[in-house]
Amino acid sequence: MKVYISTDFEGVAGIVDWDQIMVGSHDYELGRRLLLGELNAAIDGAREAGATEFVVNDSHSSMRNLEPDLLHGAATLITGKHKPMYMMEGLDSSFDAIFFLGYHGSIGASHAVLSHSYNPRAIWEARINGQVVGETAINALVAAHYGVPIALITGDSVTIAEAEQLTPAPHGVAVKQSISRFAAESLHPDIARERIHEGAHAALSSHRPATAPQFPKPTTLELTFLTADMAEMAAWLRGVEPVEGQPRTVRYAGDNFLDIFRTFVTMVLLTRAIVE
Ligand SMILES: [Zn+2]
Repeated sequence: MKVYISTDFEGVAGIVDWDQIMVGSHDYELGRRLLLGELNAAIDGAREAGATEFVVNDSHSSMRNLEPDLLHGAATLITGKHKPMYMMEGLDSSFDAIFFLGYHGSIGASHAVLSHSYNPRAIWEARINGQVVGETAINALVAAHYGVPIALITGDSVTIAEAEQLTPAPHGVAVKQSISRFAAESLHPDIARERIHEGAHAALSSHRPATAPQFPKPTTLELTFLTADMAEMAAWLRGVEPVEGQPRTVRYAGDNFLDIFRTFVTMVLLTRAIVE
């Protein structure tokens, strides 16, 4: 059994501030230790459930937060920047299950620590088929394309609630309760790791989802940016259309979920030219 793990960072127990999760920042070494502990707990739980092969995609910011020699399960590690499939780089139909580890709530969600949807300086809101979504549902498009079930998600309680909107919903392990965007009450890391260990085991056995996430065809992705010029720039891409009467919003629709995701990633990267 082959498991794909996309690791973010904001949803790890004890993490409440960018200062803990950005390379070179004051508390970064603490943060990466907490992330690694939860990741290894997930791998250990999955191994007990029969998983034999792991590919970990380090998906946060610099995308080199994980120390390769400390990974359990002889996991392969995808690391470094400029990956065309970004948080889902490396996934294909050869995998049996996906884990989303250390994920966080969408920008706009209340009581969601470090909430954002890819780029907090560009994306004000993302919607799939009219429903407000965060990174979980956007990344689920890739899972749907390759037909791989999302078995486990970990993060704060808002992240788990947002993941419930997926059909079928992954097994969720909440490791903290957010109080505001920069405060949370977390489980002790030892307890968080125990819960994730058990959760990973359950996600591949008793709670295993029957199918990959389901989306209708066609599916529509709408993005509302912070400013109109970002939306205008996004509409340079083929197939991306401005939305009448909403100068900050663009739309992309199609039957191919991978195309939708790739177009989304390109919009994120393209609009960075204005943000930075
Ligand atoms: Zn993220």
